Amino acid sequence: MTTDRFAHDSSEPVLFESALFERYLDRAHAHASEFLRQLPDRHVGARASRDELLSTLRGPLMQQGEDGGVVLDLLAAQAERGASACGSPRYFGFVIGGAYPVALAADWLVSTWDQNAGIYVISPLAAVTEEVAAEWLLDLFDLPRESGVGFVTGCQMANYTCLAAARHGVLRRAGWDVEADGLYGAPRVNVIASAESHITIDVAMRYLGLGTRAMHRVEVDAHGRMRADRLRALLDTLEGPTIICAQAGNVNTGAFDPLREIGRIANERGAWLHVDGAFGLWARASRAHESLADGIELADSWSTDAHKWLNVPYDSGVAIVRHTEDHRVAMTSTAAYLIQTRGAERDAVDWVPEFSRRARGIPIYATLRTLGRDGVAGLVDRCCARARQIADILASEDGVRILNDVVLNQVLVRFGDGDETTRAVVTGVQQDGTCWLSGTTWQGKAAMRISVSNWATSEEDAARSAAAIVRVFRSLRKGEPA
Ligand SMILES: *Cc1c(COP(=O)(O)O)cnc(C)c1O
Repeated sequence: MTTDRFAHDSSEPVLFESALFERYLDRAHAHASEFLRQLPDRHVGARASRDELLSTLRGPLMQQGEDGGVVLDLLAAQAERGASACGSPRYFGFVIGGAYPVALAADWLVSTWDQNAGIYVISPLAAVTEEVAAEWLLDLFDLPRESGVGFVTGCQMANYTCLAAARHGVLRRAGWDVEADGLYGAPRVNVIASAESHITIDVAMRYLGLGTRAMHRVEVDAHGRMRADRLRALLDTLEGPTIICAQAGNVNTGAFDPLREIGRIANERGAWLHVDGAFGLWARASRAHESLADGIELADSWSTDAHKWLNVPYDSGVAIVRHTEDHRVAMTSTAAYLIQTRGAERDAVDWVPEFSRRARGIPIYATLRTLGRDGVAGLVDRCCARARQIADILASEDGVRILNDVVLNQVLVRFGDGDETTRAVVTGVQQDGTCWLSGTTWQGKAAMRISVSNWATSEEDAARSAAAIVRVFRSLRKGEPA
């Protein structure tokens, strides 16, 4: 083999040298600044194929490593075509968010400090910051202030954490200690979700040993909301410990289940009510949108994502549980070698599934402190306004139909008569690159799905994106290549 042109510089120090950090961090900073400078104008989707990326990134693991600066350059060069511009103000795929500037900067510090935020004794800073961030979130969402709060990787794990607490709580009330005795021989737990609940609820049920086939699915209305009358009728046929999973923010339509009614029913029947509010819970921060989540405070647990609508970098979800003891008992871990506090100090291991963990509450703290209540409300309201703006422009085009009530930040669009046209418009828009969005199936029909969840999406971004969508649709109608 020929000599590697990036051969490792044997003079590179192996002792701690802050100069080496500085060299790499300066390099990373330069790449990050360039990436962010280009972000608002670049082609929004990723363009590189797997083969293209492999041709640069793959190779046998070298015997001698190479210069870290060269490695950083290599990765940064591949990000141009290999990464999506998820933080672009015109990225409307899934429900993605984007990184608010101070959130990104705080996240860099979290990596620099490299705290294991699992227990207080390793990082009082992380523990106290998360304690305050938890108080602020409960205040912002106006949920019971004594609730337990866990900072987890995303809403999948938030759903899991909340439902583990629910499993513990409903079985404890039935005289069964699931943490000690497991599910063999336990009273059967009824698990209820809507036909439109997010897939991560099913996954959580798998992790919890409750299974998915046993779940009862309540019918939804035309907006994807759980029908409270059907829930009531179902509960009439069930007995014993029961967990109900409702939703604040349908991933397609943005619709909220009738939470006050469902909350009343759950309370009457002594069932545990969990609400998946991955993005919808943030509506509670906005005067204009809080009524959508009316009654959500009646629930027993709530899950949400900070990496969606608070616009902190991945990964950042939040699990909130009213019954702190059920939450703590379901999550806590103790071992002889750990030093755990039993005072006021907060040990994160008591509230999350992870043992060692990143101090992911710190970017949440920084973002909430920087935005304030008005800033969070403004972020939510702006996204919703832009979603309506896009919907209005598209609705005025002949042959285009908006399928949902645009109550929040989600828009579903249908083009022409068949699924084929709609799918072709989605693909055409992705290739065009002005904005990025994806498709879905809504009530058996193909639809374009637009989700506005970035702090920086301006009226102009919305107008430009809608114009690009219309342009692609018109050229398809004329039979021209988009
Ligand atoms: C995104 C989402 C989830 C999953 O969240 P992750 O952060 O991807 O784990 C769960 N429920 C709803 C309604 C969502 O929109």
